[in-house]
Amino acid sequence: MPQTDHLKTDCSKCAALCCVVLAFDKGKDFAFDKNPGEPCRNLSGHDCTIHDRLKQAGFPGCVAYDCLGAGNRVVQEVFAGQSWQTDPRLLRLMMEAFSGMREVHKRIDLLRAAETLPLEPRDEQTRRDFLARLEQHRWSGPELNDFEVGLALEIDLFFHGIRTSLPASFLAER
Ligand code: SF4
Repeated sequence: MPQTDHLKTDCSKCAALCCVVLAFDKGKDFAFDKNPGEPCRNLSGHDCTIHDRLKQAGFPGCVAYDCLGAGNRVVQEVFAGQSWQTDPRLLRLMMEAFSGMREVHKRIDLLRAAETLPLEPRDEQTRRDFLARLEQHRWSGPELNDFEVGLALEIDLFFHGIRTSLPASFLAER
């Protein structure tokens, strides 16, 4: 069976988490202000009512945004397909888990991109080990909450340690 690519976003398996969790400010990317945890007023169920005309309606920021598969993974892996819309008590937990999973998937993206770098064999092995831990692990909410002060820090320190092997643009582009 082919392995799921965790960085592939699938909105049909999400619960519109980006449209409720994230905040945005009125400006060139968004037509109005929205607070974190406030469902976007363009949301109906899990669907965006202006999906086909986001840019024209003043929301190019929504077109540009990609959670890198964090939303669908959180909903399916951590919450077994449940939604904050049918059980509002889940909202805070889903917000926290989504934030943690976004950090996991940012690190996966970074570690995959580092595959092309001329790393020392020991560093290349470390990179592969980190990647396997992030991709193969089945995450729980509490583990995601702890991610940024645990494994994410280890990975960031790893990249700091190999920074002299990185092209100047590598981290800046991510
Ligand atoms: S405008 Fe549509 S895509 Fe953007 S946050 Fe609102 S519901 Fe989501």
